[in-house]
Amino acid sequence: MIKNKALIDSHGRNHNYLRISITENCNLRCIYCMPAEGIQLTPKAHLMTADEIFEIATTFVSLGVTKIRLTGGEPLVRKDAKEILLRLSKLGTELTLTTNGLLVHDYITVFKEAGIKSLNVSIDTLQKDKFAQITRRDEFDKLNENISLLLSEGFIVKLNVVLIKGFNENEILDFIGLTKDKNLQIRFIEFMPFDGNNWDKSKLISQAEILHFIQEIHPVDEIERLTDKPNDTARNFKIKNYFGSFAIISSVTNPFCDSCNRIRLTADGKLKNCLFSESETSLLETLRKGESILPLIEKNIYSKKQIRAGLDNQNVFENPSVFNKNRSMITIGG
Ligand code: SAM
Ligand code: SF4
Repeated sequence: MIKNKALIDSHGRNHNYLRISITENCNLRCIYCMPAEGIQLTPKAHLMTADEIFEIATTFVSLGVTKIRLTGGEPLVRKDAKEILLRLSKLGTELTLTTNGLLVHDYITVFKEAGIKSLNVSIDTLQKDKFAQITRRDEFDKLNENISLLLSEGFIVKLNVVLIKGFNENEILDFIGLTKDKNLQIRFIEFMPFDGNNWDKSKLISQAEILHFIQEIHPVDEIERLTDKPNDTARNFKIKNYFGSFAIISSVTNPFCDSCNRIRLTADGKLKNCLFSESETSLLETLRKGESILPLIEKNIYSKKQIRAGLDNQNVFENPSVFNKNRSMITIGG
């Protein structure tokens, strides 16, 4: 139900899904997410407190947001992540998070108390040495243990896999193989350009290539195209008779802007109406002045561009420096 026009943009899209980054910190250093030299962390005083997160989220829910995802950095490294999850769970929306999985063993009870049913967990390779290479940390075994723990505790687990040419496209079929007996959804994500992540088009594995790899082993009639949920960013498939499923998120080659319902709030309280948008609106500064954030929300959402923050031509991807004006992914929250 649309409660308020504030979340509708000039193209008629209603934004009822809020993604909140609660930290810029992380216990991994994924090469595609974080520049090698690290990032300049925002001073703590400029980051949203738990109270401010709750207040801003409450405003969005009053406007019609029905789903909230916590992200980061790594959301679970934040000391008061438990408090934030439990408070947000009282807002009555669907609540979920995207995590690198390393700390989930400490949060199983909290997740259950907060009514979390499903989590997205990132894992880009099934090989221990390659995991250390891409994350710059040797934590593969812990992550595997925690994925099994989440499944055994009854959570729906979606695995986020960023595909990078020459690194992990030869594991696409291994990931699909996991869905044979396990109720997992594998989400293959096209590698996206952000500040400092050395993106170039030649490293991209497109949706078409992903399907091509899968068809080498599974003929077309074995691959079932599933119905996508409204506003789904993923195109969903499964191998017939397999328990789990897989999906492709093709933000670069085949964006899903038409049905985009996402709003992003960065850890320093800035609203981004698109992952690719350079422009941001600080809700936190206004909130701290004791003023209403409503007009800012309305203006920011209304001005959302129709396609990828105005980068609507595939040619923009020929020049990766265009994307250096955007933040690095770790400070946006994927
Ligand atoms: N730390 C958590 C994690 O890794 O799941 C949450 C934050 S992370 C920024 C959110 C998602 O963004 C992860 O699934 C990650 O793989 C994805 N991501 C980061 N950089 C990306 C890039 N350049 N292209 C595509 N996806 C990216
Ligand atoms: Fe950390 Fe997630 Fe970025 Fe990896 S993708 S560096 S785990 S925030």
